[in-house]
Amino acid sequence: MIYYILINVILGFVKSYHIQIQCMVISMKKILIFSLNIILFLCFFDVFAHAIKAFNKSVEEEKVVYLTFDDGPSILTDKVLDILKDNDVRATFFLIGNQVNDRTLNMLIRMDKEGHQIGVHTYSHDASTIYADADAYYRDILKAEQTIINRTGIVPVVYRFPYGSNNSYIMKYRKRIIRKLKNAGLNYCDWNVSGEDSIGNPSVSKIISNVKSNYSRYNEPVVLLHDSASNKETISALPQIIKMYKDAGYKFGTISERSRIYQWRVQ
Ligand SMILES: [Zn+2]
Repeated sequence: MIYYILINVILGFVKSYHIQIQCMVISMKKILIFSLNIILFLCFFDVFAHAIKAFNKSVEEEKVVYLTFDDGPSILTDKVLDILKDNDVRATFFLIGNQVNDRTLNMLIRMDKEGHQIGVHTYSHDASTIYADADAYYRDILKAEQTIINRTGIVPVVYRFPYGSNNSYIMKYRKRIIRKLKNAGLNYCDWNVSGEDSIGNPSVSKIISNVKSNYSRYNEPVVLLHDSASNKETISALPQIIKMYKDAGYKFGTISERSRIYQWRVQ
């Protein structure tokens, strides 16, 4: 009898030991799985953090500024082109069609050769003529475009409204004219930074400070400047404007290279 009890005690002990071993194995498995999950999570977190860092870096590296010059070509345009060339910078010129002639033709050829973009800024720039009605504006833009094509063979794909796309002259037919010109292969381009160099007679430092007040608000700023015959201060301000953007890590491009052509949102 005593042997029977002893054997049962020993068997019970072995059984409970076996159960304990099993529990321990299960616990070890759980710990192992938990640890693996932690490691996987940390790895994923690390990869994810690196991906975010790389993405932020690439966004930062993609800072591009788009300098634009309205109201040329003029006697000052060659000087603008010289400064752009000296600084290895490309820009976009919105030209007035009736200023494209034998005297200025070389400037257009030079713009194209040196990697700049040519856009249209109406034929006459005369508000009472171009904004008489939708057809008048359409005809004027196409006349300017055709002048550039006939003289240079360059086909413009962008235009800029004198006073921007939100001016009071065009509200009645704004949508119609934009659609019609888009069908003719021309998209309009506004700006988000302005040197305000055609308003009054601003000094060189004022033009620079006008650009500076907004320049860092955008990753892809479109800067409005002018190269009409009266914009001498703009020429003097231009090297410093270029330096300001270069120091801030911006590259320079032409309007059609932008992620999308910049246009104001008008209700
Ligand atoms: Zn203009």
